[in-house]
Order: sequence, then C-alpha cells, then structure tokens
Amino acid sequence: MESTSADLSLMREYNERLVLNLVRRAGRLSRADIAKRTHLSRSTVSSIIVDLIEANLVREVGAGRSRGGRRPILLEFNGQAGYVVGVDLGATHILVLVTDLEAHPVARLEEPFSVEEGPEAGLEHALRLIDQALEQAGLRMEQVFGVGIGVPGPLDFATGKPIFPPIMPGWHDTPIRDRLRERLGKPVHLDNDANLGAIGEYWWGAGRGARNVAFIKVGTGIGCGLILEGKIYRGEIGSAGEIGHTVIDEDGPPCRCGSSGCLEALAARPAILQAARQAGLKGLREDHLSILDLIEAARQGNPTARLLFAQAGRRIGTALTGLVNLLNPGVIIIGGGVARAGSFLLDPLRETVRQRALGVAAPRTCIVESQLGAEAIAIGAVTVVLQELFSGPDLAVPVHPYLAVEGAARPAT
Ligand SMILES: [Zn+2]
Repeated sequence: MESTSADLSLMREYNERLVLNLVRRAGRLSRADIAKRTHLSRSTVSSIIVDLIEANLVREVGAGRSRGGRRPILLEFNGQAGYVVGVDLGATHILVLVTDLEAHPVARLEEPFSVEEGPEAGLEHALRLIDQALEQAGLRMEQVFGVGIGVPGPLDFATGKPIFPPIMPGWHDTPIRDRLRERLGKPVHLDNDANLGAIGEYWWGAGRGARNVAFIKVGTGIGCGLILEGKIYRGEIGSAGEIGHTVIDEDGPPCRCGSSGCLEALAARPAILQAARQAGLKGLREDHLSILDLIEAARQGNPTARLLFAQAGRRIGTALTGLVNLLNPGVIIIGGGVARAGSFLLDPLRETVRQRALGVAAPRTCIVESQLGAEAIAIGAVTVVLQELFSGPDLAVPVHPYLAVEGAARPAT
C-alpha cells in the first residue's frame, strides 16, 4: 500500500514528538543517542533536529565525550522556548503563576477578589493579573504557549462552562474558556479547582508515587479532585467530586446548593467562622475574623478555636468515610485555606475515618496535608497545559522532580 502525503506528515509529527519528548526527559543527548533510543534512522533524526532547533525547542550545548572519532554535539531541551500561565480563580482571591516549559516559576501574583462580583468583572480581573504577571517576568503574550485556569464549581468540561456553581452565583453557563481563548488568542484549559489541585499534588506534591489520589479543597466550599488509576476522573459531564454537597446531617442548616445539611454548610470556612463569631471570638481587626486569626487562636491554646477545627475535621472525616469505602484511595490530601489549621483539623479527621471506614480500606489510606499549599491549583493548571503541549509518544519513564515554588511547603525528605 502506498503512503499518502497525509500519512507521511502524521508520521513525521509522531516522530518529532517522540524525539522532542526524549530530549525533554533524558537531558543531554547526541543525535546518535537519539537514533539509537528511538530506532529512527540517523538522517530522520538529523532532519527532525534541524526543525526543532529552528523552532527554538532544542539547542546545541557543545561536544560530548568521544567513543573514538569525532566528539558528538550534544543537544538539550530549551525550557525557555515558551511559557505557560496557571490561574487559580478562587472565591476570595485570584492567583496567577507563570512558568517556563519545565514548570520553573518565573512570576507569581495574588490579589483578593470576590467571585460574587460576577463573570464580567472576574474575567477582567484575571486578564489584568495575567498581563501584570507577564510584565513582572519581562515576557510578552506572544511567548505564552497556553493558559490553564481553575474555578471553584462544577463544570461542563466539554463546553468549558460552569453549571449551577453554588459558590459562584451569576456564573452559570458563562463560556469562560471560550471568552479567555478569544481575548488571549491562546489555548485555554478550564477545569474545576479541586481537579487541578489533585493534578498538581499528584505530579509535584503529596500525591507523587500514588495511583489513586483524592485532593480535598476546604475553603469557601469543599471540593474534591480524584485521580483514579493515574488519571483524573471528571465523571460523565465533568462535575464529579462535589463532596461538599454530601448530606451529613439530615436536620442540618440550609446549603447554597438548595439542599440542607451538606458538608459544606457545616464545615467550610464560612460555617467555621460563623460558629466562631457566635462563640464571641474576635479577629485582630475588631470587625473582621479571618481563618488565619482562628488558626492563630487555636495555636495559642484557645479551646473554642480548637473545638471548632476538631468539629469541622470530624465532619469532613465523616464524608471522607464514604469516599474511602467507595473508592479506596491510597492518599487523601487536604488542601485549601482551612487546611492550614494542620493537626487541629487533620487529627480528628483521621481519627473519624479510622473509626468509621471499613477496616480493610482505612489503614491503607494515608491522609496528609497539601505540600503545594496555596499554589496547588495554579501549579495543576500549569501542569495540564504542559501535558497538552507535550502529549504524544514518549519513551522515557515520567519523572516527577519537585517543583521549587516560593512559599510552597517542601517534602519532608
Ligand atoms: Zn449543598
């Protein structure tokens, strides 16, 4: 059978990806090394390298050791050939992270924000911060290869629109992904924030090495991102993981989703702070009590603050008992602003899961605090863009080097 020109161009693209991913992962290689490891001919490799050097994705870095004869020229991936942007559009803040193609951060900006301002103001704010972050790094939009963005609500993943997001009133059905694509002129990946947190932690943080990971984001709402058998699980439409709307108290208070007694209405940040105010606790500023004030009070030994985190921990633990029984995850990572309470929240949470989940699953589920902290979602957003950019044939075993992000907790090793 004769090859058509379409077949040939597909094959060429496949081989280019293969070579690029090998150089990206394996470090410095000569053309001969590449030919040997990919089983491509020397002339095919040389011609692909010409194209990759022209695209600035690969560069020559001097001569390697000779094994008799001429010293071979070594090639390496050029991580600064382009940049990607990760955006965490939260309920109360926007965080923008710019990294190079090897996920090394070059700029980070964060500003307070209220998701209740609605989609018009929200998207303008995000666009402005993206511009400022690029300026901070001395970059132009033309150097950006793609943008990832996480939002705190259920989405229709195929259309890139939030679907009745309880904590984003007014954002229902807004074509966030398409609008940003139009404005930026770049590929845009929109996802649920907890999904991106799960991807970030799975690749660079507390989920490394595990196959089944749940990332629980405890903030204004309570969301869950699931990695099952090494892959993100979004469900039929893209709304999987809404663990915050698990009913844990039939007679509980009304929830923003329209139901009542949901985990979110009992254990997310607003519920904890409301209970704290009712108990008479005050913040540093007389009129404002923040979750950080409450964490500080717990550290100082305030019994009410400790009790409130313990109560929230037990409630989250009750909901996670169902998750552990249903999915048997190896690692559950607790992230979001409330997770900064550390053991005040996590000890009672772990204890509840240990007592209530099935004896077969509970001891094998490790419940840990997020390692990427406030950056988890933005790092996940960067990661999905990089995965899309470099998708395709890949010979090398994936490596998970720790991403050095200022302010993110480092692993204990
Ligand atoms: Zn609810």
